[in-house]
Amino acid sequence: MRIFERDGHTVYPIVVPANYGLETCNFYLLKHGERLTLIDAGMPDKSSWQGLMEVLEKNNFHLHDITEILLTHHHIDHVGLVNQITEKHSVPVYAHPLSIPRLKRDNEFLKMRVDFFEQLYREMDCGDQGEKQVQYLKASLEKNDNQKLAADITPIQGGMRLFDFSIIEVPGHAPDQIAFVDEARKWCFAGDQLIKHISSNAIVEPDLEGNRIQSLIDYKKSLTAFRDLNVDLVFSGHGELIDNSKQLIEARLEKMVIKSQKIKKLIKDGISTGNAVAQHLYERHYEKQFPLVMSEITGHLDALEAEGQIGKRFKSGVWFYYAV
Ligand SMILES: [Zn+2]
Repeated sequence: MRIFERDGHTVYPIVVPANYGLETCNFYLLKHGERLTLIDAGMPDKSSWQGLMEVLEKNNFHLHDITEILLTHHHIDHVGLVNQITEKHSVPVYAHPLSIPRLKRDNEFLKMRVDFFEQLYREMDCGDQGEKQVQYLKASLEKNDNQKLAADITPIQGGMRLFDFSIIEVPGHAPDQIAFVDEARKWCFAGDQLIKHISSNAIVEPDLEGNRIQSLIDYKKSLTAFRDLNVDLVFSGHGELIDNSKQLIEARLEKMVIKSQKIKKLIKDGISTGNAVAQHLYERHYEKQFPLVMSEITGHLDALEAEGQIGKRFKSGVWFYYAV
């Protein structure tokens, strides 16, 4: 990806290959005045590290020139190199307050999160597939302990300014998802808020008290607010850069309405549990991408319920949905 320059600021994209249809994983070096800011930090692997080193070298920078790291959200493919960088060169790390228990791997929070998914899958009637996923989450508690960020994290949130950025909160894909908007240059660094070639998932998560966040409803609101920003270039976390964000958002919102109506139709036809809806709608992906599929269905069910289009009854530990 080429270098972008506007009004004295220069963006050096670091682009590495990524799996799961994401095409690439992107993170960015931004040179502005004396500062060299890293926005997101790739995956915790060799190719991200090499990608960073190559871009630094090619442009006559050194790791020690980085002045800070800004994180758009806590997902591992956006924070992967933070430890490796800060271990060699200590710089401030900025992230949303909701990133902190996740990035610091707060034990109590992570255990509560496993309980949250256990209850969700049980109440959605997910059976063996749900139990398998819960076992996986339990094993990850220890297995991923080495992903804990060592550096102190400085909290930043919506309404604040940092350098030439306004920080806006765009929850939905992740509860801590933020975007860095440079109004003067009409640039926006937005993590996974918007991806050009695929729909970003609104991933169901608990809040700090263990209550379900209405991810899809949040995501719709975030997309609508994002559409109204006066930016013409969105530096996305995956795939190509986005220079038509307004049209892309319209298309995404439309697609959500269609999906929502499909789900409502299934419920009208008597498919009544979250799990049954998931199996009907996602035959092929149900098993392979179970957590994402359940997230998607749960998000739509919550949104339909909030709009008064469906209702639900609790019977023998399971929610049964019906059309209104
Ligand atoms: Zn993400």
